[in-house]
Amino acid sequence: MKTVIEPFRIKSVEPLRQTTREERERLVSKAGYNLFTLEARDVLIDLLTDSGTSAMSTEQWAAMMRGDESYAGSASFFRMKRVVQDLTGFKHVIPTHQGRAAERILFSVMCKPGQVVPNNTHFDTTRANIEFTGARAVDLPVAEAMDTQARLDFKGNMDVGALERLIAAEGPGSLPLIMVTITNNSGGGQPVSMQNLEAVRGVASRYGIPFYLDACRFAENAWLIHEREAEYQHSSPREIARRMFSLADGCTFSAKKDAFANIGGMLCTNDDRLAAQETNLLILTEGFPTYGGLAGRDLEAIAVGLEEILDPDYLRYRIASTAYLGRHIASHGVPIVEPPGGHAIYIDAARMLPHVPRTQFPGQALAVELYRHAGIRSVEIGSVMFGGAARHELLRLAIPRRVYTQSHIDYVVEAILEVYAYRDRIRGMRIVEEPPFLRHFSARFDWAQ
Ligand SMILES: *Cc1c(COP(=O)(O)O)cnc(C)c1O
Repeated sequence: MKTVIEPFRIKSVEPLRQTTREERERLVSKAGYNLFTLEARDVLIDLLTDSGTSAMSTEQWAAMMRGDESYAGSASFFRMKRVVQDLTGFKHVIPTHQGRAAERILFSVMCKPGQVVPNNTHFDTTRANIEFTGARAVDLPVAEAMDTQARLDFKGNMDVGALERLIAAEGPGSLPLIMVTITNNSGGGQPVSMQNLEAVRGVASRYGIPFYLDACRFAENAWLIHEREAEYQHSSPREIARRMFSLADGCTFSAKKDAFANIGGMLCTNDDRLAAQETNLLILTEGFPTYGGLAGRDLEAIAVGLEEILDPDYLRYRIASTAYLGRHIASHGVPIVEPPGGHAIYIDAARMLPHVPRTQFPGQALAVELYRHAGIRSVEIGSVMFGGAARHELLRLAIPRRVYTQSHIDYVVEAILEVYAYRDRIRGMRIVEEPPFLRHFSARFDWAQ
């Protein structure tokens, strides 16, 4: 059979609420044209993020009832730790309430002002947490990633030559760690090849610099390696994931992505001295090391989710259903970041709205219009999110895991094609109010003059 079906059936449902165009125009204006400020009940199809929005399985819900809520030494922690160690091989597993808490702890311990942390592309929270320590966050994507239309297999890769040049220019002592994000979320959800991870590992070892993975979507990256890197076509996602983790000295992880959990994260390392410092910081703000800001039941959901995510039937469906959305809009001319990646489809908004200059945030303008037209919430990944560091003006349509069916996605396709048909009438935007950090979450906008 050629048809790829959802490898699950639905046991519990939530109603969706329709609104009219007039209602949505009023609501989004009241929200300062920032979709983060909308109430979720006013959104029909929510593609804002795949973070914490997964549908949990019956096994996860069952495991939650087993959650051990002991303050210290919870059985749920040891269950999660066993699953994580078996998967990653890392010695220390430090639970946190989400990925950015792991980042804050890692960078507070490792970074000093004036130092430099390279990444294939930093995620917004990674960049912000590095800069908060006074260090500099540098993106080193491969040159091919600049061309959103190039159909190459591993556009998430790090430019290893640029990494060598950065080390030569700054001196190895100025790099407290090297990070690689799998998959490359801000770089269009593109995967990183095993060969690239091995090359980065080689450079890190040569200069004695620790190498960390931002592993939020490790399973989707593993599947894309399985599909696209010939050497791994006969390897299981678990084998590939183990190999990826074995190349690194540690990782940060948001369980809100590839662990099907609604909250949670972790920081892993093989370094005893760092782990001790990290645990001290953890106690200060997150909690005791066997719960780290999470309930025992959350740790259970993560432990089960980390096993389920590596199911080949699930990953085949996941990657195929993301590509389904991408192919159906791209075949009608909508410029997407090619090829479709793991968790989201990214529309190249600058290319779709050439009449809107970058200073007028084409990604934001498109996000607002898609909401006004069809009640679909998406997110700008461009100059609003990254300011001058933005390489592209993208609109991200992130697909929550196991949540929407193919007919929901068909509705999204139809809406995008309708908006595409009247794209020349979409106006640019300007910022009227913004906070000092991570402005995309709370800035207010209005139409550009
Ligand atoms: C989501 C995400 C993070 C941060 O995780 P949170 O759980 O949202 O704090 C870090 N890096 C990447 C690549 C992410 O996608």
